[in-house]
Amino acid sequence: MIRTLKKQLYNQRCFYLTAVSLPLIGFFVYATLYHPAFFYLLALDLLVGLLYLFYIYQDMAQRRAGVELQKQDMTEKANLLDEEMNQEWTSIESYCKKILNYSQLKGLTEKLCVSFTLQETSAVLSSEVNKFFGDRDATVILYLFHSRTGELGLSASQKGEMRINVEAKKGDLYDQWVVKTLKPLLIEDIRTDFRFDADKLEGERSRAVRSLMSVPMCLGAKAVGILRVDSTRENYFTTEDVRLLNTIADLGAMAVENAQLYERIEDLAIRDSLTGLFLRRHFLERIGQEMARQLKRQQPLSFLMLDLDEFKQYNDRYGHPAGDIVLKTIGQILREMFSSPEFFICRYGGEEFAVLLPDCPKDEALVLAERLRERIQNQPVVLRRERTRVTVSIGVATFPDDAQLKEDLVAKADMAMYRAKATGRNRVCPAAP
Ligand code: GH3
Ligand code: MG
Ligand code: MG
Repeated sequence: MIRTLKKQLYNQRCFYLTAVSLPLIGFFVYATLYHPAFFYLLALDLLVGLLYLFYIYQDMAQRRAGVELQKQDMTEKANLLDEEMNQEWTSIESYCKKILNYSQLKGLTEKLCVSFTLQETSAVLSSEVNKFFGDRDATVILYLFHSRTGELGLSASQKGEMRINVEAKKGDLYDQWVVKTLKPLLIEDIRTDFRFDADKLEGERSRAVRSLMSVPMCLGAKAVGILRVDSTRENYFTTEDVRLLNTIADLGAMAVENAQLYERIEDLAIRDSLTGLFLRRHFLERIGQEMARQLKRQQPLSFLMLDLDEFKQYNDRYGHPAGDIVLKTIGQILREMFSSPEFFICRYGGEEFAVLLPDCPKDEALVLAERLRERIQNQPVVLRRERTRVTVSIGVATFPDDAQLKEDLVAKADMAMYRAKATGRNRVCPAAP
């Protein structure tokens, strides 16, 4: 276009030059012949030349203005194109981010699928959420409701690669709000948020939290926990981040529910439903492990075998449901007396119980057994206003004094218990040497 314009200008200039140069040629012709018309021709030529020059100037100015307008038009179009390209880039970037998020979500789902215990599921959730927001200054906190107590409790917390100490073990006022409303919460700056009183944040002050997002982990109307990400910087999270965290929380809720079910089933397989104590199969596995451990540590391991005295008669007199209450009571007494986590109690058979006492030598085990016998003897079981009592016979065997093998240890305690029965019941007998 500019080239055409230039050509036009060139053609016009040729025309003007011809127009000016023709009278000049005439002047030279008349001047050569000494004719007076020479002066008139000169004046006319100058006038025509000036007019042409003025015309050229006007024309040039007009064309320049036109070119300027076209230039502005072009610049405007270029700017629009530039803007469009920027928008395209932004949307390409957001698509790339979405694709990355989807692939991370896929990874999270795969990992959650192979996590069976609550501990594994919590660890996977906190570390995977950390991958979504971890490139930033963010701490991931997972709170879960305890399946038995129903209380909210800290399950995992992570910042970067590290586990971090969170003082609010049951969540702070923001988490309580999420528990109450079951809605996601985004706080851009806790100092300026008018909905909550930041002065009540005792626990979180030590971490100087400025912004946070907290979402409920729900299965229908039931919440299994809370997933929270907070930062020491204000305005750190966007509504897009909350949406993503919500999706993760939904996946996490299913995984937590599955893990809780798995643990419940596992518990049912190893625990007796009446007393809540471990079952014999699990107990026998544990004896083997404990014996190996104590052998390494060169420490003793004592074993108590209890059997209720004349329990058949008790059942016949008071009924089977009453007998069940007695068994439950014995389980409770055992749990109270041997509450330390290293002691291991089991319902060995129908009305038989067993206790494993690591680091307990035989003389101490006999003292404990005697105390247990007395406690059971003195514990009344009230049935329809009647105070009933039961007694137990206890056999005691100790590793390595009485036996070196698991089967021998059990057999020795069993024999000692039968000796207690044979010698009058309601007594403690040590294993025969
Ligand atoms: P001994 O002093 O010789 O041990 O007499 P015993 O009557 O306790 O012995 P025996 O083995 O003959 O009877 C065990 C009784 O325990 C039989 C059964 O009625 C009762 N029993 C076993 N399991 C349960 C249970 O789960 N609930 C109730 N109520 N009774 C049970
Ligand atoms: Mg028995
Ligand atoms: Mg019995």
